[in-house]
Amino acid sequence: MVKQPMPQPRLVDTPHGPLTYTLTRKRVKNLNLRVGTGGVALSVPLRCSVRQADDFIREKSGWIMDALRRREDRRAEPLPAVSREECVRRLTDALTRTYPLVEPLGVLFPQLKLRPLRSQWGNCHWAQGYITLNTALARCPEALRDYVALHELVHFLHHDHGPGFYARMDALMPDWRSRRKALKSYGGALEHEGKGSEHT
Ligand SMILES: [Zn+2]
Repeated sequence: MVKQPMPQPRLVDTPHGPLTYTLTRKRVKNLNLRVGTGGVALSVPLRCSVRQADDFIREKSGWIMDALRRREDRRAEPLPAVSREECVRRLTDALTRTYPLVEPLGVLFPQLKLRPLRSQWGNCHWAQGYITLNTALARCPEALRDYVALHELVHFLHHDHGPGFYARMDALMPDWRSRRKALKSYGGALEHEGKGSEHT
């Protein structure tokens, strides 16, 4: 029986910058790459050389860097919890701050409902004239609350996420994409965009 070496920390230079990973040799058939709480881990068959392992990491470095970045993103600390009154105040403020952007376009000031939604930051009930904002937004930075409020307000003009919707967002809040990106770090499970069916 071949003695299995201990996990070995490795530092490699890759086209995407230096990367540290833990190399483990195992009685396995294939290379198995994981990016998790313990960092980057690669297990390889016993016959695989360190050099082959490093080469594999280099080859996958783009994907690894993305995965590491996504983990970082997920870790944004929400602001401290606030009282119900403060939550109402913050989200009402977000709506009143952004409403003037769509008022000239004929949007009526909507009724605001607050809900602890599980899978959305907000939604727009354009036919009924109200929007819902997730109470969790009160624990996100102001710029991100404003982004969601405006996103929902723009749905009164463009009900789906078609090109018209995005063109309008670009015109009214040119940096909305970076706000959306920042918001994702507060959500984890709260993926506001891209599913199509989450808005009405
Ligand atoms: Zn939407």
